[in-house]
Amino acid sequence: MKDAALKPAFSLAPGERAGVLLPLPLPPYDYKLPSGVAATRGLVVSAPLGPRESLGVVWGKAEGAVGDNRLKEATPLDGNPMLPAGLCDFVDWVAQYTLTPPGLVLAMALRSRQAFEPEIPRIAYAKGESTPKRLTPARTRVLEIAADGLARSVPQLAEEANATPAVVRGLIDAGALVEVALPEFPPFAVPDPGFAPPKLDTEQDLAAHLLRSGVAAHRFAVSLLDGVTGSGKTETYFEAVAEALRQGRQALILLPEIALTVQFLERFAERFGTRPAEWHSDLSQKERRRVWRAVLSGEARVVVGARSALFLPFAALGLIIVDEEHEQAYKQEDGAVYHARDMAVVRGRIEHCPVVLASATPSLETYVNATSGRYAHLKLHSRHGAAVMPEVRLIDMREARGDPGMFLSPPLREALAVTLGAGEQAMLFLNRRGYAPLTLCAACGHKMTCPHCSAWLVEHRYRKRLVCHHCGFETVTPPACPQCGETGTLAACGPGVERVAEEFKTIFPDARVAIASSDTMHGPLETQAAIRAMAKRETDVLIGTQIVAKGHHFPQLTLVGVVDADLGGSDGDLRARERTFQMLHQVSGRAGRAEKPGLVLMQTRNPQDAVMRALASADRDAFYEQERKSREEMRAPPFGRLAAIILSGHDGDAVRAAGRDLARAAPAARGVKVWGPTPAFYSLLRGQTRERLLVQAEKLVDVQAYLRSWLASVKLAKSVRVTVDVDPVSFF
Ligand SMILES: [Zn+2]
Ligand SMILES: [Zn+2]
Repeated sequence: MKDAALKPAFSLAPGERAGVLLPLPLPPYDYKLPSGVAATRGLVVSAPLGPRESLGVVWGKAEGAVGDNRLKEATPLDGNPMLPAGLCDFVDWVAQYTLTPPGLVLAMALRSRQAFEPEIPRIAYAKGESTPKRLTPARTRVLEIAADGLARSVPQLAEEANATPAVVRGLIDAGALVEVALPEFPPFAVPDPGFAPPKLDTEQDLAAHLLRSGVAAHRFAVSLLDGVTGSGKTETYFEAVAEALRQGRQALILLPEIALTVQFLERFAERFGTRPAEWHSDLSQKERRRVWRAVLSGEARVVVGARSALFLPFAALGLIIVDEEHEQAYKQEDGAVYHARDMAVVRGRIEHCPVVLASATPSLETYVNATSGRYAHLKLHSRHGAAVMPEVRLIDMREARGDPGMFLSPPLREALAVTLGAGEQAMLFLNRRGYAPLTLCAACGHKMTCPHCSAWLVEHRYRKRLVCHHCGFETVTPPACPQCGETGTLAACGPGVERVAEEFKTIFPDARVAIASSDTMHGPLETQAAIRAMAKRETDVLIGTQIVAKGHHFPQLTLVGVVDADLGGSDGDLRARERTFQMLHQVSGRAGRAEKPGLVLMQTRNPQDAVMRALASADRDAFYEQERKSREEMRAPPFGRLAAIILSGHDGDAVRAAGRDLARAAPAARGVKVWGPTPAFYSLLRGQTRERLLVQAEKLVDVQAYLRSWLASVKLAKSVRVTVDVDPVSFF
C-alpha cells in the first residue's frame, strides 16, 4: 500500500452536497447538509433512509447521481462527533482489499450504535450547607457518612449509614443533602508506566529498548517478537506499551481469544496498577458504549481486545501488539472476510505507529518477512528463571499399541504413574471435543451424519447426545441403526476428550481429573474453573482440547501427553502442517515452566514426518526452512497469492450451475490460474450447498482487480451467495 493511495481529507463549502456512507452494503450516497455546516470527511450524521433515519458518515465528495429534487438532508449529531481520519482511511483500505462493500466495513467501526446518544448523568447527593432542625440517630449517621464531601446515590448512602432510603430522602427534602450530576460512566483510570517495571534480562532489555525507541519515533515499522513460551514476550512488549503511555498515546493489544483475557488483565494490572479497557463480543451494550466513547475521546489509553478492536476509533494510536500472531482466530470468516493480523499492519501504517507481532511459532508469512529483513526480528532465546525447554519424545503407535480400544499407550501410562507418584501434575491433550468423533453401525457400516452438513455427528456421552459441531444439530443416540434397524450395533469410533478421561479414570481411579474443552457442555466458565483448579493444584491431571494449550502457567506441570499428534496433519490443506506444528509446539511449552524439567510424550503413527522430527529434535527453524522451500516451489503464499470464491445456497443445482458459469467466465490473465469449481470440503453446511473456486496468482498480480472485473462480468442467480476470501487460511 502506498500512502498516496489514501483519499486526502477534504472540506466542502457549507450547504453543498456530500457523499455519505451508511453502515449498509452500499457505496456512499449523496445527501445535502444544512446551511452553515462544513462537510468534512468523518463527520457523523443522521441520514433519512426510506421511512427511517440511519447513522451515516460524511465520506467524500458527492457522486452527483441524485437529482436536486430528490436530494435529502443529513444532519450532524449533537456536538458534531467525527470519526478519526485514520479510521476512515482504514475502512476504505479494508473494503478495497477484501472486496467488501465499504458500508459493511463501516458497520464494524460503528459497532456501538448507542455511542452517539447524549450522556445520561447519574444523580448523586453530597452534603449541603444547611443542617436539619430535627436530628435522629439515623439522620446523624447519614450526615457523618456524607461529611467527606463525596457524592453518593440514595441507596449507597442508605447502605453505608445503615439507614432506610426514606431517611436519606428526608434529608434531601430538608436541604441537608444536595443534588450533584455525575458523568454517566466512571472515567477509565490511566495505567501508570512506572507502576511496577519488571527486571528484564539482557536479551529482553535489548528488545524492549528497540521497541520503545520505535514507539517514541512515531514511525511505522513491524517487528516480530519471537520467543519460546515462557521467555517473557509479554513483559517485553509491556515496555513498549509503557512508552506509548509516556508519549501520551494509545495502545491496542489484540488477543486471539476472549478466554485468555481474564489472566491477561490481571497481569496487566500487576504491571500498570490498573486494568485496561476491554473490547470483545461478550461486552454488554452499555459497556460497549462506554469503551467506544472513551477510545474516541482518548480517555481509554490501552485497549485489550479481540480482532474487532482493530476497528475502534482511536484518537491517537501509538502502538499495536498482535499477541499469538499465528492464531487462526484472527481470521474473520463471515461477513467481511479479513485477517486481523494483516489488517493490524495496515492500520499501523495509516496511523504511523509501530506494530509488534508476538509468537513462539510465527506464521510462515511472518517468519519469511522477519528472516528476509522486511520486519525487525527480535529473538528471545531463554526461558525465564530456571525453567528449561521440555524434552519431547515420540511414541510410535504402530509398535506401542496397548489393548484394542484403548488410547493411552503403555509408555504414556507409565510416565503418568511416575508423575502422579512424585506428586506432580500432568496434562493430556487431544484436539477433539466430545466422546467420539464417529458413531458407526457394526452390522451395516452406516455412519451417523448431520442432516444439514456433510459432517459426522460427534457423540457427547455425558449429555447422551449426538451433536453436529458445525450447525449445532442434536439428536439422542438412537437405540437401533437407522439404516438396517439392528439394535445394539452402533459403536463409538475413535477418541474425544471425554473418552480419554474415561479411560484415564479406569487406570488411575484415585487421581483428580478435570476436562477443559470449548463446547457447550464444558462452557467458558467451567473451563476457567478447570484451569484455575489446575493452577491451584486441586487437580492432578487436566485433559483438554486446544483451549488448554494457550497462555496458561502451571508451575507443577511436568508431563504433557499428546494423545494423537497426527490429528489435523493430513487434510491436504496448505497450512495443515504449519498448524499442527504450531499447536503441538505450544502444547509442549506447557510442561516444565518452573524449576522442574518437563517431559512431552507424543503418540504418532508417522514418527518420520518432518513435523514430528522437528518437534523431537527441538529444531523449530529446520521445520520452517523446509516449509518455506516447499511453499516457494509451489508458488504458494507468501511466494504467490491465493483467493477463494465460495458459492453457497439452499438450491444445490443453482449453486453448481453458478460455479460452472463463473469458471467459464474467468478472464485469461498472465500469471493467474483458476481452479474449480469443486465441492467444498464441507459440501453441505447448515443446509447450504457449497462450491469453491481457487485463484492462484503470481506475487505481483493485482488479485483484487482481477476478481473485481471477473465478478462484474457474470450475472449469477439471486439465490446463490458469493463470498470472496482473499488470502484464505481455511480451505473448508
Ligand atoms: Zn446398521
Ligand atoms: Zn450440521
